[in-house]
Amino acid sequence: MENCIFCKIANGEIPAATLYEDEDFRVILDLGPASKGHALILPKAHAANIYEISDEMAAKAMVLAKKMATKMTDALGCDGFNIVQNNGEQAGQTVFHFHMHLIPRYKGDKVGIAWEPG
Ligand code: 5GP
Ligand code: ZN
Repeated sequence: MENCIFCKIANGEIPAATLYEDEDFRVILDLGPASKGHALILPKAHAANIYEISDEMAAKAMVLAKKMATKMTDALGCDGFNIVQNNGEQAGQTVFHFHMHLIPRYKGDKVGIAWEPG
């Protein structure tokens, strides 16, 4: 999709700090991290949100989220982990290309888990 920043990042047209890549997904560090290691799972194929993404890609994204959470928890030594996925402005979505937030949590951190409209 033209003029979609996450399409460009996912497909390597715009550089981003990449933690993982395969034929369907790129996992990048969030530009405005909510905690140390905050990352985003981006599908390479454009879908705006959970309503548009295919069942197959949604399932693959969840399996990847599970793998990343396990690897990141080992690597970072975090104490907990949020997986967040926003749909629509009212739910706090600001980039309208499906993505899953991977948010490592640390004892005593101040990350809110309620997401405000962007
Ligand atoms: P949303 O609010 O749509 O669920 O999440 C969008 C996320 O994308 C935000 O956490 C924001 O910091 C991040 N973000 C927005 N633009 C960019 C960008 O150009 N590069 C990266 N790495 N993250 C971005
Ligand atoms: Zn896109």
